[in-house]
Amino acid sequence: MIAPHGGRLVDQVLSPEQSAEAARHAASLPPLHINHDLARDAQNLARGVFSPLAGFIGQPDFESVMNADRLTSGVAWTIPIMLDVPSADTVNPEGEIALFDETRPEQPLAVMQVEQVWRWDKLAAAEHVFGTTDSSHPGVAGFLARGDYLVGGPLELIDNDRGPYADYNLFPAETRQVFEDRGWKTIVAFQTRNVPHAGHEDLQKTVLGLADGLLIQPIIGKKKSGDFRDEVILQAYQVLIDKYFNPQRVFLNILPTEMRYAGPKEAIMHAIMRKNYGCTHIIIGRDHAGVGNFYGEEDAIDIFERFPDLDIQPIVIRGDFWYCRTCARVASDRTCPHGEAEQISFSGSLIRKGILEGQAPPAEIMRPEVYDVIRSFEQPFVD
Ligand SMILES: [Zn+2]
Repeated sequence: MIAPHGGRLVDQVLSPEQSAEAARHAASLPPLHINHDLARDAQNLARGVFSPLAGFIGQPDFESVMNADRLTSGVAWTIPIMLDVPSADTVNPEGEIALFDETRPEQPLAVMQVEQVWRWDKLAAAEHVFGTTDSSHPGVAGFLARGDYLVGGPLELIDNDRGPYADYNLFPAETRQVFEDRGWKTIVAFQTRNVPHAGHEDLQKTVLGLADGLLIQPIIGKKKSGDFRDEVILQAYQVLIDKYFNPQRVFLNILPTEMRYAGPKEAIMHAIMRKNYGCTHIIIGRDHAGVGNFYGEEDAIDIFERFPDLDIQPIVIRGDFWYCRTCARVASDRTCPHGEAEQISFSGSLIRKGILEGQAPPAEIMRPEVYDVIRSFEQPFVD
C-alpha cells in the first residue's frame, strides 16, 4: 500500500464518547460559523484527505507554499487549505474556538486550536495558485470574495456526518482497506466532474488492462454554472458500472471538496488527495482542472516534472479524443488518420447543448442508459 502523503494518515476524528465531551466543551468556546464548503474541508482535514495537514493551514506553511509549493517540512503542496475571517479580532489568537457549519448550526462541527491569525495578500496568493489575478477566473473570484485574514491551527472533528451521499463517501483509511481487501496493488484514480461519455469509458477500460483497480472519484461540492449536478454524475456512473464494468475492478467514491479550477496546481493536489485515498496512479489529461483558456493544454501534465517525489504517478493522456467512424472506435490525433469528416465529437458543450434540446447523443458518444439518467432529472445542470 502506498504511504500517505507526508508519511502519516491524519485522523483527527473524535470517537462518539470523545465527541460528546468535546461538544460540551465547545459550548463554552467562542463560536465561528463557516460556510458548507469550508465545513467539508474541515471534515476532509480531520479524515486524512489532506494529510499531512491536520488543520487549516498555518502561517509558516502558507508562506512556504507561496514561496516553494511545499510545506515547511518540504512535502509538496500547491494549494493552501485556508480558513478565512473578515477581521483580525474575529477570533482570539492562541485560543480554542468552536467551528459550526452554518448549514447545520444546531451542533458544533469541530474544536480548533488557533495558532495564528494573519492578514493575507489575496492577489499575490491568486497569482501564485491560479497563475492570474483576473477576476473572471472562478478560483480568483473565490479568493477575492474571502475574508482578509486567515486562521491556522489543528482541529478535532466532532460532526463526522458523511453527507447526502454517505454510501459513496468512504474516507481514506476506508478506501485503503477496500483496496487491501480486494488485493489491489496498483490503483488508478480517475478524477471527474462530468457524466461519463464513451471516451471516458474507453480510457478507464484501457487503464484497467494495466492496473489492478480503478477508483472513479467525482468531485462533489461547489461548482460553476453549467456543470452537471452531483447526483446526476453519481447516478450516471453507477448505471455505467452496473451495466458495463467488471464490478470487482472498479470502485466509485466521492471526493467532497470544491473545484478550484487551478489547472496545474490543482492537478498536483488531486494527485496528493488520491494518494491519501490509497491510489498509486492518477489519470491526468489535457487541461486537467482548467477553466476557460487560462492554462496551456499540457500545463497540468508538465508540472509533475517539478514534483518527482510525489510517489503517486501520473498516467498522462495526451491528445484530443473523438469517435472515428472509419476506425469504428474511440480515436485521437495520435492514433487516427481519417480526418474531421469521420469524427463524432465528445465536446462537453456539444453534449450539453444536445441534452438541453432533448436530443440524445449518438450511442458512439454516450451510453443510452447514461443519457436516460440525465434525462430523468428536470434540471441536470448547476444554475
Ligand atoms: Zn480513424
